[in-house]
Amino acid sequence: MKAVAVDPARRSVQLVDRPEPALATPTDVKLRVLDVGVCGTDREICAFEYGTPPSGDAQLVIGHESLGEVVEVGATVSRVKIGDLVVPMVRRPCDHDDCRACRSDRQDFCYTGDFTERGIKMHHGFMTEVVVDDEKYMNVVPRALRDVAILVEPLTIAEKALKQIFQVQQRLPWCAPPEPGKMPRNSHRAVVLGAGPVGLLGAMALRVADFDTFVYSREPAPNPKSNLVEAIGAHYVSSAVDSVEQLAGRVGNMDVVYEATGASGLSFEVMKVLGTNGVFVFTGVPGRKAPITVDTDLIMRDAVLKNQVIFGTVNAGRETFEDAIRDLGTFTQRWPAAVKSLITGRYPMEAYRDLLFGQATGIKNVISL
Ligand SMILES: [Zn+2]
Ligand SMILES: [Zn+2]
Repeated sequence: MKAVAVDPARRSVQLVDRPEPALATPTDVKLRVLDVGVCGTDREICAFEYGTPPSGDAQLVIGHESLGEVVEVGATVSRVKIGDLVVPMVRRPCDHDDCRACRSDRQDFCYTGDFTERGIKMHHGFMTEVVVDDEKYMNVVPRALRDVAILVEPLTIAEKALKQIFQVQQRLPWCAPPEPGKMPRNSHRAVVLGAGPVGLLGAMALRVADFDTFVYSREPAPNPKSNLVEAIGAHYVSSAVDSVEQLAGRVGNMDVVYEATGASGLSFEVMKVLGTNGVFVFTGVPGRKAPITVDTDLIMRDAVLKNQVIFGTVNAGRETFEDAIRDLGTFTQRWPAAVKSLITGRYPMEAYRDLLFGQATGIKNVISL
């Protein structure tokens, strides 16, 4: 079967022929891959910034955002059946007995760092025709979401962040959710940094949770992303037009900042205008560039005097995937055209070079098999 694989030692990325995997345990499931999303992580792996093949293999099959159809199941599989559409999880637990996170099926909080990740770290990914995996990592997706389910994995970033924002905001008695996960209409002003797929999906998740949402991004409006932002009832603010201070003036008390750019300089500028009792969430992974000057006294003073919480988050556990599947259903009901417009191109696997090495274009580009 064909696959896109990186060979870090030889610094090559190629369309290769690999043996088709077979079921190895009674809980294994075989998937026919339907869609694979391409993101910055794949491009960085193909620039040899990271990405580790499985031990004993020179190649790593890339691809971590995926949608598959179950075509074969092991003898004891009970969570999925043949014909189901599934989105597999990416991260797999370490095998240390004392890693309480991994032993609790929350490898997204792994303590040891010895987790593996499909398509990224020591485990082949999904940019291929057939994969075999344990049923416990499968998340069943309704047929109605077939065309957009490739967005589930990037949406889990926002879902895990939101869950933690709710947990932090529970410290505010007037803001305590009347029911778990449901926000009352206060302490609900959010800024999303960046209008890529992670930012736009985050903006949709914040809108569904009833946040007044501002997306702060570079390009002046109108543009396709600003149109999409307006279509979901959020506000688009261009950093080419409005400074960080002007953004703060428009938002009012900035209760939540959801960072989705990987740009540390911009993030720390915006942190200076985070509101009282505000929560700042980092989701981006910046490349290591030269150090920059940050006003640490101001940021530390505000963190104390304004009860601020600053945290980072990496995706994701089972519950978060389930939240993402549910919310993607809600998005498609509320904004069908906007959700579809997030997927800006579908390509055959043979187009991998343009997608991984060319100028990044559009919002979410997908390899469809
Ligand atoms: Zn990704
Ligand atoms: Zn672990």
